[in-house]
Amino acid sequence: MENMLKDKVALVTGASRGIGKAIALSLASQGAKVAINYSSSDAAALEVCETIRKNDGTAEIFKAQVNVEEEVEAMFSSIEEKLGSVDILVNNAGITKDNLLMRMKTQEWDSVIDVNLKGAFLCTRRALKGMMKARYGKIINISSVVGFSGNAGQFNYSATKAGIVGMTKSAALELASRGIRVNAVAPGFIETDMTASLTDDVKAAYMEKIPLKSLGKAEDIAQAVIYLASPMSDYMTGQTLHLNGGLYM
Ligand code: NAD
Repeated sequence: MENMLKDKVALVTGASRGIGKAIALSLASQGAKVAINYSSSDAAALEVCETIRKNDGTAEIFKAQVNVEEEVEAMFSSIEEKLGSVDILVNNAGITKDNLLMRMKTQEWDSVIDVNLKGAFLCTRRALKGMMKARYGKIINISSVVGFSGNAGQFNYSATKAGIVGMTKSAALELASRGIRVNAVAPGFIETDMTASLTDDVKAAYMEKIPLKSLGKAEDIAQAVIYLASPMSDYMTGQTLHLNGGLYM
């Protein structure tokens, strides 16, 4: 199916690489006008934008730190000016600062909470302005398998990814009457820069535990996001789709 999202405006946070990039490309291939948010690499964001344009899609880049309120406000104003009001929001931007709990620095806790939770809060709250008026919206939050299973060394990160699920359910309850659907995707182990730094031993240990015996690809997650962004999932809200090769059931 093609063009399921024709003329919809979609914002993907942290879209210059990894899962966010794959989501941005997939949304554009379905006809959405894509706002590519990024925090640091102009070159990488521009490359995603150019790829979309070369394929006759519409995209613009917007630099903003999702955890900084003024930057989020300026980003949304600029998106509204250039592309229109946001119909689809994908809260994808996320960071890890792994450490054993005994050694975890307060700053490692604070920064992960700030980007992963406050970032999703600020973007969701701002996106509602337009969605409430339109009585339509799709919000898709990127959680993680570790929000459900826990993970040694990821006390901070797993707290945010479980928190994303609570936020998803609360928002779904609050916004259903306005035609706004809120769902989450919980990826397992996906091959991106976030997981590239893990040693071969750690990767092999994960592989042992994955019944489908392969690591996931960013495109696997993008396909689930397309489903949640499209009318195919209109009777679904407050849910989490798990894509983890069977690692957690
Ligand atoms: P990544 O590190 O490759 O990409 C994350 C992106 O977020 C980067 O482009 C980064 O610049 C951006 N970002 C970071 N802080 C930001 C901020 N303050 N404002 C705006 N953008 C910011 O990671 P990824 O693997 O593509 O992860 C994407 C999402 O998927 C994250 O939420 C992550 O937690 C989640 N996830 C990833 C995996 C995995 O195995 N890779 C598994 C489960 C969940």
